[in-house]
Order: sequence, then structure tokens, then C-alpha cells
Amino acid sequence: MVAEFKFIVDNNVGKLAKWLRMMGYDAVLFDGSDDAYLVARALAEDRVILTRDTQLMKRGIITSGRLKAILISADEPEPQIRQVVETLHLDFRFRPFTLCLECNQPLLSRSKDEVKNRVPPYVFQTQSQYMECPACHRIYWRGTHWQAMTQKLKKLMES
Ligand SMILES: [Zn+2]
Repeated sequence: MVAEFKFIVDNNVGKLAKWLRMMGYDAVLFDGSDDAYLVARALAEDRVILTRDTQLMKRGIITSGRLKAILISADEPEPQIRQVVETLHLDFRFRPFTLCLECNQPLLSRSKDEVKNRVPPYVFQTQSQYMECPACHRIYWRGTHWQAMTQKLKKLMES
């Protein structure tokens, strides 16, 4: 049983949001500047904070352990995601292909007929499994982009 973590990603490590969504972890992006709001939302929604802000880490609510936060040490997104995965023992094969990479919304299953004329013809010919984001209406398929990201994650975790 893998723990069901949810995240709030500070804008100084914003790229982590997409990686986490790719694995199927709910990750909202915090793009404001008000730390109090970030902390309040993390508490209200039981989210782990990911940040590079050392000041934020000094808040009592975090040092006391009431709120979980990870201070990200690396500059580059790849070691950053590795730090999160290793710290929380995340499963990078958790629930791929379930969340919109842009909106963090759960994807809905779509039949081939439903996406006809909405995906490029070569995709329609070669793919049978489709998902749609209810918010931005992007159509996803297990095609090249997803495969490339999965491969990258796999390589990252094995290195
Ligand atoms: Zn979307």
C-alpha cells in the first residue's frame, strides 16, 4: 500500500508539479507570494509543501512537524524530483495517465469514437486508449510524449 500524498508546489520549484502529476500524485502549484496562504492551504488540504524557501521552513508549524514540508536542495528538476521520491518513498509508477499535466484534474476515459477528429489522424490510427481533461479538454493518449516522460522517470530512479 503506497501512501497517498498530495502536494503544494512552491513556484521556486514549479517544474515538480508536472512530474508529480505524471506519476498520478495530486500536485497544485502555488504561484503567489504570500507564504501564509501557502501554509493555510497546505493545512486545509493536507498537502506536503515542496519549496526552496529556507525562511518558510523555519515556521513553527513546519518545525513542529504539524505540517510536512520538504526543502528542495538541487537547482535542476531531475535531482529535485529524485529527492521528493526518495524522501517520501513515492512510487513513480503510482497511477500514471490519471491526471492532466497542465491542470491537475483527474482525466476521464474516452472512446476512440469520442476523440475522432480531435486527435491527429496518425494518432487515431495507432492508439486505442484515450483520456480527456474535463477542465482544459486536452486529449491524452499513451503516445510518444507520455512514454518519453515515463522512460525519463525510470532512468532517473535507476541511476
Ligand atoms: Zn487540463
